[in-house]
Amino acid sequence: MIQLNKIEKKLAEQLLLTIYNNESYVTFKELAKRVNIEIRHRQIGKHIAQISILCHELGLPLLSAKVRNQSTKMPGMGFYPLYEMMGIPTNGKTEQELYKSELQAIRNCKEWYKLEDYLGLDIGLPRPTPRQSPKLLDARRPYPYAKSVDVLNICFGEEYLGKHYDGWMMGALNFEVNDTEYGVWFPKLAINGKAASKSGWINTISDDGMIIEEYGSDDVFVPSEEPTMVFAKQGNDGYRFKGVFVADMERSTEEHHYYYKIADVADFRTSVPVIHRFDDERESDDKLIAELRDEETFAPANGFVYNGKPVPVPELKQIQERKIYPRNKQKAINALAHAGYVCEIDSKHFTFNRKRSGVPYTEPHHLVPMAEQYHFDTSLDVEENIVSLCSTCHNHIHYGEGAEELLKQLYKARKKVLASAGIVITEEELLSYYK
Ligand SMILES: [Zn+2]
Ligand SMILES: [Zn+2]
Repeated sequence: MIQLNKIEKKLAEQLLLTIYNNESYVTFKELAKRVNIEIRHRQIGKHIAQISILCHELGLPLLSAKVRNQSTKMPGMGFYPLYEMMGIPTNGKTEQELYKSELQAIRNCKEWYKLEDYLGLDIGLPRPTPRQSPKLLDARRPYPYAKSVDVLNICFGEEYLGKHYDGWMMGALNFEVNDTEYGVWFPKLAINGKAASKSGWINTISDDGMIIEEYGSDDVFVPSEEPTMVFAKQGNDGYRFKGVFVADMERSTEEHHYYYKIADVADFRTSVPVIHRFDDERESDDKLIAELRDEETFAPANGFVYNGKPVPVPELKQIQERKIYPRNKQKAINALAHAGYVCEIDSKHFTFNRKRSGVPYTEPHHLVPMAEQYHFDTSLDVEENIVSLCSTCHNHIHYGEGAEELLKQLYKARKKVLASAGIVITEEELLSYYK
């Protein structure tokens, strides 16, 4: 890109202001006055020619057409040679016709903000309205196929491309979140089949979507160690988010690469994007259960009843390299007490008394898993969402065959109570969280 000097930047700003103010032209003399710099207006011609060269490089019409000579009512002498100089076809048009069509193009152009941005100005020229894209990317949800350019817009906003990165067509790019480098990768994937990229590399994805295998004949390279958001192409319909993957460095060689999935969800709705690494729901349950084990009194909060009101989402807590939503011990105790310390699948299920407090032993389970908190704008760590289960049913729900039936039963019993706490969810959605 051509660089403008200080005077030229001031001139460009004034010319953009004529667009902003709907002025159809400005004279050389007037323009010299407006930039308020000691400059003879006859010298302006060579500077505005530079501006037009930049415009052309940005894909914009030649802005110097806005400046005309007071007496001839035509642009300066340097205007027409620009076409030949930059190889813009004139299609046999006369100078008069070229001038007219350039002014027309300037009027019709909706992208003057590009020059505004390039020069770091803040004039307030119209911009395209931001795309209404979902910025929560969830590999498990049906998600429309998108072009790679749309994918980047979804992640980074419309302006990301134009301003900071124009090499995306290479197939990958890197960005940084909280000091961690991330990559974005657009492989052509095949499930148990072959889909070679142009360079001859073959990318396959395992049936369960957890492992990507990549191999090629020439141009061997070591895969990147950064977590990589994968937008895979399967067929000709564009790209779809597949999850966040990391190269398995121990297994990979220069010719044969393996990547494994670390997250299904990348959330770009906040100013700092969050990659939701897999959080083992059962593991987090166990931490909570261990906390309850040592409770002396096991008493519910005084006068506890269901709140019946939505509660704000708690802050994410950093635990090692994962971010998780904390679980409140007292709420679990309240919920177990509310259930009368029996299993909510069947109150006759076997239980025994707790060693310290003597109350019958059941375990708290978050019906809508805490790991899905980012789908909701109210807290999932509320008594309304915590069910009391005997040890067997709890394990059945997490590990067992036929857990769907238990979930359906609990959903039916809790649907209204969940909604009262702002947790609105269909049975189908709930079941999908357990897959
Ligand atoms: Zn559980
Ligand atoms: Zn049970």
